[in-house]
This record gives sequence, structure tokens and C-alpha cells, in this order.
Amino acid sequence: MINRVIARVQTLFKRKPKRGGRDPKRISSREHGINGELVSRSALRVCETLQKAGHRAYIVGGAVRDLLLDIAPKDFDIATDATPEQIKSHFRRAFIIGRRFKLVHVMFGQETIEVSTFRALVNADRLIDEHGRVLSDNLYGEQNEDSARRDFTINALYYDPTTGDVLDYHEGVKDVRARRLRMIGEPADRYREDPVRMLRAVRFAAKLGFAIDEATREPIHRMAELIENVPAARLFDEMLKLLTSGHSVACITRLRAEGLHHGLLPLLDVILEQPAGERFVMLALSRTDERVRAGKSISPGYLFATLLWNDVLAKWNARLAKDEHRIPALNLAIDETIEAQTEKLAIQRRFVSDMREIWGLQPRFERRTGRSPFRLVEHLRFRAGYDFLLLRAAADEIPVEQGDWWTRFLHAGPDEREKLIEEAARGGSSTATTGKRRRRRRGGNGDGAPSAV
Ligand code: ATP
Ligand code: MG
Repeated sequence: MINRVIARVQTLFKRKPKRGGRDPKRISSREHGINGELVSRSALRVCETLQKAGHRAYIVGGAVRDLLLDIAPKDFDIATDATPEQIKSHFRRAFIIGRRFKLVHVMFGQETIEVSTFRALVNADRLIDEHGRVLSDNLYGEQNEDSARRDFTINALYYDPTTGDVLDYHEGVKDVRARRLRMIGEPADRYREDPVRMLRAVRFAAKLGFAIDEATREPIHRMAELIENVPAARLFDEMLKLLTSGHSVACITRLRAEGLHHGLLPLLDVILEQPAGERFVMLALSRTDERVRAGKSISPGYLFATLLWNDVLAKWNARLAKDEHRIPALNLAIDETIEAQTEKLAIQRRFVSDMREIWGLQPRFERRTGRSPFRLVEHLRFRAGYDFLLLRAAADEIPVEQGDWWTRFLHAGPDEREKLIEEAARGGSSTATTGKRRRRRRGGNGDGAPSAV
């Protein structure tokens, strides 16, 4: 009720926007060539329903950008002049979410369409607490204001799936065609308003293979330190998006090029400033990229376990050098690594427990005698631990032979498994290893020494 009154008052007292107060360019489907087949039926239905009720409704943001590039969008956002309450009233399964800015999630089976009301550009009278924190940002505005609040020109396009027209307030279509990432408004101001936009610039440029327009790129290295003010949880979300974009290697390379890595994100420090672990990390990232691009799922816990493994190894080795016992030393190294990371980068708790398990399993792969291997393959997290082991082998951190042995054990029948255990107990295997590896394993049952270097 109150929101409806606020919305009414707003329409009566429309503010003049500072940016983008022009009429949009209207680009027909013949000109832009979007393939309507790539539009989700649910998104189309939401637009049609709202339009039939007398509202304006458009597909907006990343989905339009992707459609123009002939890429199937992974999700669809819709912008409309209807208020959240009005939106909700038209759908059976619709939920208003968010406190600062209300959005509506309209559900169709597994698919969620996010619908938001056009936002106003200037929020001079928004509710602010005594510390200046914004409590309510529910000020609705005109479409051109909504477009000017968006970050890049290529993300501020509105596609009407019923007429096929694209509305373009900021020459976004031209920028898509030129493969150029350009900030709307004054880039330095926009980064100050929200420093995460610097990371978004890098992510989109890397993911789409676009060049960053010079005026958009130039302030980044100067303003990089503003990222320190971003709440840890938001930073974590953005890092996760970056690492799971299917282009993480390109993103990391760009972050480095823009000076965004140094001393800002502890995770990135670990990834980028430890040459010893670079091979392992880059291999892990490129495998993640391959999986994402092949449409396979990836586990963030596993991903973070790979990214931080070298930090764990370094700390573990430091403890072993002081003659600490192996397993307690590993557990303490894990604690230290997690602690250092969570201080700034809030890795979510459920991911942390995955990471601990994957790391904690690694020494168990070294025990290839008695009943240990039988118990290990039954472990709930065996698969993740085993994949991690293979990655270590591929990165030359442990003998390839060790990974191979486990692959054979995994696929073997009961008799063959007993033979494999005998083979391991004899202190070797039929698989040749390098002299270096043999020397390191000297004195044990073939795999007793820590793999740490
Ligand atoms: P993708 O989902 O492929 O990562 P996207 O462009 O859809 O890319 P979202 O984070 O889903 O990105 O945001 C949807 C839209 O909301 C963006 O296209 C942009 O218009 C706007 N937006 C998101 N984050 C910001 C921001 N920090 N500043 C300004 N506008 C933003
Ligand atoms: Mg999106």
C-alpha cells in the first residue's frame, strides 16, 4: 500500500535525470537481427502478460547483449513500469524479494525470471540511516533513468520480444558491433559509486573478448584500491562470477594487466603472486573453463580448494620443516589458510567444509596398503579428492604413477584390487616414474613422503 502511494507520488513529481535524458534509438529486428528462437518462452510470457495489462515490459541487461552476439542467454531479466505489487498480481508463482530495492521473481518450473521496476536516477530523498547507509531505495523512475543507472552501454539495451524492437539510449548496439566496453556517464564517478564495476569491466571484456574503451579503462588502475571498501560477501560473489565465467584464465590475465590484483583480493594475491603454484592454478582454471563451456556443473568448493592449495602446501611444509607431525601439521596449515582468506573474502561456510575435506583427503591417497584404499574409495568425498589428486599429478606436483594407481584401483574388481595393493606394498609399480620422483619417495612404501616441495 505504502509503496503504491510512493510510486504515485513519484510519477506526479518526476525528476529530471542527469544522464541519458534523450529519446532512445529504436532498432528494428531487421536491423539488429536477433534470433527470436533464443528468447526464453517464460521471458516472452512475462513481457506479454504485463503488456496486455497496459504496462511496458522489456528484456534487459546481459540477455539483450548476449542475444545481439547470437549467444543463448543464461538468464533473463525484465524491466517494466509496473510496480512490484502490480507485477506480482499478474502471476501465480511470483515473489517479491529484496529490501533495499524490491524485485519480483516470477517462477516457471525451474526457471526464474527476475522482473524489476524502472529505477529513478537521482535518489535524493531515499531513506538513509544515521551512518549514511541506504535503507530503502524503492524509488521508481522513467525508462531513460533506468538505462542511465546501468553500468555499460552494452548492458543498457531494452528488447521488446513482441515487436522485436531494441531501444538504445546510449549507443549500446554500436558498441556491441565494435566489440567495445564503454561505461555510461563519467567512468571515475561510476567506479566511485560502485567499485565492483571495475571487476565487472574486466569480466565482461575477458568473457566477450571486447576491448575496454580508453576512457573507461584509464581510471581503473588509479581507483583500484576502492575495492577495499566493498563488503566481503559482495566481493566473493563477484569473484565467483569471474572464476566461473568460462573465461577465468582470460579474466585473471586482464586483472593483472589492469593492476587490479595487487593487495586487493587476498585470494588473487595467492593465485598471482606465487610463481611456484602458478602451473597448478592455471591448469585448474583452464579445466574449470573447459567444464563451464561444455555446460557442465562446477563445484565452488573444489575450485577454491585448487586455488588455495599452494598456500596450504607452503604452510604445511614450513611446519614439517619444524618436525611437526604430518597430519596435525596439515590441519593447522589448512586452518591458517582459511583464516587468512575469510578475513576479507568471505568464502561461504559450505564451501569451506568442502575445501577442508578435499585437502584433508590428500595424505590418505598416499596410504596404499592394508584396508585403507578400500575405505577411501567408499568415502563420500572420494571423487572430489581423487579429481584433485589427478590435478596434482597433471601439474607435476606428485608422480603421475600415483594418480594412475588410483585410477586402476577405482575401476578394478576385488581380486585385481588385492593385486594392486600387493604391487604398492612391494614398493613400486610397473609404471615408470622419473628419477626425481623416485628419489623423493625413497625409504617409504613407495609413496610415504609428503608431496610438498
Ligand atoms: P551476466 O549475468 O552475464 O554476468 P549481466 O549483464 O546480466 O551479465 P547481472 O549482474 O546479471 O549482469 O546484472 C544485470 C544488469 O543489471 C546488467 O546488465 C546491468 O544493466 C545492471 N547492473 C548489474 N550490476 C550493476 C552495477 N554494479 N552497476 C550498474 N548496473 C548494474
Ligand atoms: Mg544476468
